[in-house]
Amino acid sequence: MPNLPEAWTPAARELLPAMRTWRKSFHEEPELSTQERLTQAKVVRALADLGIPSRTFEGFTGVIGMIAEDRPGPVVALRADMDALPVTEETGLPFHSRFPGRMHACGHDVHLASLLGAAGILSRRPRALGGPVKLLFQPAEEEGNEGGALPLIERGALERPHVAFVVGQHVDPSVPLGRVGWRAGPFMAAADAFRIVVRGRGGHAATPHQGPDAIVIASEVVTGLQALVSRVRNPFDPVVVSVGSIHGGTRHNILPDEVVLEGTVRTMRAETRTMIEAALRRRVRAIAASLGARVRIEYRYGYPSLVNDPAATRTVVDALRVEFGRTNVVETEHGLMGAEDFSRYLERVPGTFLRLGVGKAGHPASLHSSTFAPDERALVIGAATLAAAAVGLQRAAG
Ligand SMILES: [Zn+2]
Ligand SMILES: [Zn+2]
Repeated sequence: MPNLPEAWTPAARELLPAMRTWRKSFHEEPELSTQERLTQAKVVRALADLGIPSRTFEGFTGVIGMIAEDRPGPVVALRADMDALPVTEETGLPFHSRFPGRMHACGHDVHLASLLGAAGILSRRPRALGGPVKLLFQPAEEEGNEGGALPLIERGALERPHVAFVVGQHVDPSVPLGRVGWRAGPFMAAADAFRIVVRGRGGHAATPHQGPDAIVIASEVVTGLQALVSRVRNPFDPVVVSVGSIHGGTRHNILPDEVVLEGTVRTMRAETRTMIEAALRRRVRAIAASLGARVRIEYRYGYPSLVNDPAATRTVVDALRVEFGRTNVVETEHGLMGAEDFSRYLERVPGTFLRLGVGKAGHPASLHSSTFAPDERALVIGAATLAAAAVGLQRAAG
């Protein structure tokens, strides 16, 4: 096997017209989590056009493609997510969404086209590969609870053949176009949800002494939860506790029987996650008990935190520096409190999740906004990133 690094960017540039066409088609027909049927059919057709075999599944919209299955060496899996969001598009793009109220506002159309592009350039040069490359097209990343990664894993995404490394990427408007962001270790948060029902005794607002007042107790709970962040966790370990909704009562002079609070907890480490849950339950029960109210707490785990394997990240960063030059491969300043179910793969297999720069001066449109319109030149970087990362990992391990 030659030791010289391949340059993947020229090949990716050649494939840009095809990537554009795929991306436009995904963008025009965005589908919500678990409903990605058209998207699935388009992925299967594009892979077939590239001469790449793929597998689909009964009642599930994921696709698994396979390049150089018989090639000896470690298997690298590359993943793209497929789903769009319930957002009404306002980009004014000529290929804007044809489906009212749905939009690829998180850039998953770019992820899909980039992965197809990487598949195209890798499959044309199988001799450059140090092993097979598996292509994971995953539905339902935005779903937020079970997500699409777990069902894809259950269907063999990481087995037969066993996957040694996994790489994924997400477009990022805070990283300039032409650059790739990386970070070793904890990178994105675990996202858990809670629901707290405070039960007091309703009555006339002029006679509050007759029973526990659910509104006053719920207010103490909201304030008390912030002390979990300021006084329970280590200040060097980020935690967010946010109450996003609070409901109780009907009018100004009636005390309600109950108040319902809903919120989210974001943590970066598994130990912190369980510690904050226990502390939250303890704190809420103590506040309620001290004021004579009953309380019910539901706490639901969402995606776990995303932790990039340091060694695999280092190998990928080295390969990307050769591909794009040192200044275009940037360590991100800090982690992100958003969540991403790519973490499910990284819980099982070492690998790394990268940020694909789509930022430009004067266009701060953020992910999930109705005006989010990433520059299509990012497709070239996205495809070359995945190809260089896969081959870099195989070479380092081979
Ligand atoms: Zn999103
Ligand atoms: Zn996304």
